[in-house]
Amino acid sequence: MNSKGKILVTGGTGYIGSHTVVELLNENYEVAIVDNLSNSDEGVLDKIREITGVKPEFCQLDLCDKDDLQEFFAKNRDIDSVIHFAAYKAVGESTKKPLKYYRNNLVSTINLLECMIDHKVTNIVFSSSCTVYGQPDQLPVDETAPVKEPLSPYGNTKQTNERVIQYTIEAGNPIKGISLRYFNPIGAHPSAKIGEIPRGVPNNLVPYITQTAIGIRDELKVFGNDYNTPDGTPIRDYINVVDLAKAHVAAIARLIDNKNKTAYEYFNLGTGRGNTVLEVIHAFERATGKKLNYKIVGRRPGDVEQVYADTSYANKELGWKAEKTLEETLRSAWEFEKAYRDKN
Ligand code: UDP
Repeated sequence: MNSKGKILVTGGTGYIGSHTVVELLNENYEVAIVDNLSNSDEGVLDKIREITGVKPEFCQLDLCDKDDLQEFFAKNRDIDSVIHFAAYKAVGESTKKPLKYYRNNLVSTINLLECMIDHKVTNIVFSSSCTVYGQPDQLPVDETAPVKEPLSPYGNTKQTNERVIQYTIEAGNPIKGISLRYFNPIGAHPSAKIGEIPRGVPNNLVPYITQTAIGIRDELKVFGNDYNTPDGTPIRDYINVVDLAKAHVAAIARLIDNKNKTAYEYFNLGTGRGNTVLEVIHAFERATGKKLNYKIVGRRPGDVEQVYADTSYANKELGWKAEKTLEETLRSAWEFEKAYRDKN
């Protein structure tokens, strides 16, 4: 079948990147990945081939090195769109090493946009986060909600990158862009071949749960049960990573087909459903039959009480909807954890 276009996926060997590459290949896009492998493994490329039958092109490259990036674009003249995932993402580490985060996450986006302009690449989809809303005044949060004071240097890099892209477009450069504001991506591909592989102690809830269930961690610490929510634990909108990946394909198609309403747009990607930490734990136990060892401890600094998406705008405009249930998604995370530990 003919290719629908060639997409550069930065950070394409990472967690959300790799799932998106699979969905792009399933939809007959050609894919080239660049990644510096700072938080991922080249072995993911073989897993993608096992799932899709296609091994995507790969170039190990740091986006902060502009000469290398220019050379990459010069050699790959058939690229017409970019999905930009590559970034550092550990919130806690970003508060301790802000300059590391600002340099990497901002310089890479600036280099990318400059190279896109030089090489006449017109479409960019940016991996953003609901962290831009902070603790929203109204729930569920829709795209008209104001961007709030950032809660961490990491969060600030997401807000700033959105602005960098928006202002670059509004200045009249020949680029169209979509920022996708993710709520909480979890789970793994149903093949259990790709999934989330945190390096060291996981920061996020679901990898911590699966590592506890498999015995790598003694117990899950639940950070606070004195929030103003039904069971006192914070509420998030947990979205299946494959559902999330499909939204990227929809966003790329929207740009390629010129269906976008303005040159710069942004969408919330969630399920529209909020779940507490205890609900996630119990859903995991139901889905897997594993009993989880957990303990309530004090709040984690910087955590917001509750956030979940109003997804109606994304549903309508992108023609996309998150479909998987929480239990199904947690089961996929567990199946991946088991398969990964078997082999590593
Ligand atoms: N959480 C927890 N224990 C952990 C990790 C996370 O209780 O070991 C809670 C955290 O307080 C938050 C929710 O799980 O309420 C989701 O946290 P995560 O770090 O996955 O996402 P984020 O806080 O960025 O939404």
